[in-house]
Amino acid sequence: MAKHLRKIVQAGFGLLSNAYAKGFLPGSAALYNGPLKHFCVPGMNCYSCPGALGACPIGSLQAVLADRHRRFPFYVLGYLAAVGLFVGRFICGWLCLFGLLQELLYKIPVPKLIIPGKADRAMRYLKYVVLAVLVIGLPLLYRSEYGAGEPFFCKYVCPVGTLEAGVPLVLLNRSLRSALGWLFRWKMLLLVLCIAACMFLYRPFCKYICPLGAFYALFRKISLIRIEVDAGRCTKCGACARVCRMQVDPHLQPDSGECIRCGECVRACPAQALSYVAAGKRVACGRGEKYTIVK
Ligand code: SF4
Ligand code: SF4
Repeated sequence: MAKHLRKIVQAGFGLLSNAYAKGFLPGSAALYNGPLKHFCVPGMNCYSCPGALGACPIGSLQAVLADRHRRFPFYVLGYLAAVGLFVGRFICGWLCLFGLLQELLYKIPVPKLIIPGKADRAMRYLKYVVLAVLVIGLPLLYRSEYGAGEPFFCKYVCPVGTLEAGVPLVLLNRSLRSALGWLFRWKMLLLVLCIAACMFLYRPFCKYICPLGAFYALFRKISLIRIEVDAGRCTKCGACARVCRMQVDPHLQPDSGECIRCGECVRACPAQALSYVAAGKRVACGRGEKYTIVK
């Protein structure tokens, strides 16, 4: 059960976040616009997906920063900081639909690649650059002649938006097809490259591009839910590092910002030295197919 628990939670949360079935009806031009849309979901989930019930925090952050009235994004930043403080990148491992999609693409039987150490380490900083430049800097600083900014990451890069919103909206609305231009073709190219990369590399978007993962990673040492190692139990066998597809060695760096708290290492540890902790208290360790609640 524990082996599939995470997939079930990821899929369930993804469905719940996109449960506005009416939006998927052919010819439907109306997105859900009810009260839930005022709230952000914790993972990457495009606001303009026909089924989306909530807003994407990264899209919301850019929208406020790009607004001509230049208001401070108290709500979105406060929300993101609260999620980061409580659970951090646990969201990436357990609640992000795009994370699940990447994992499913990685199951396609093609040769698997790992980007070598130095190049991989350098590329991991890219997501912080994306956060600082495309999500915060340019939407805040750029102004058109009409005084409005632009959500640079959403508009020019985000493959989540292309997959969840661009593609279904174009398929569902004949009238939109004649209006497609270079921007849609550019975003489709990025989406195809992203999908191809996901077959060969484990979660490349999360490792190298995702600004939300970068934001939550800032809370790696202080979030309430974390992975911890009990040095007294650890035999340094290395089983945890071998199962980690994010290339973290959790017995050395249990609070790495690259850790998505997926728990694979917790289940793989034969000594039960690794555990989920909440507010400093061990709550669950694992072995094989099971998680054990620590009393
Ligand atoms: S699998 Fe467990 S015992 Fe082995 S190195 Fe990792 S934490 Fe230590
Ligand atoms: S260190 Fe463990 S919990 Fe973190 S990403 Fe790797 S396997 Fe998952």
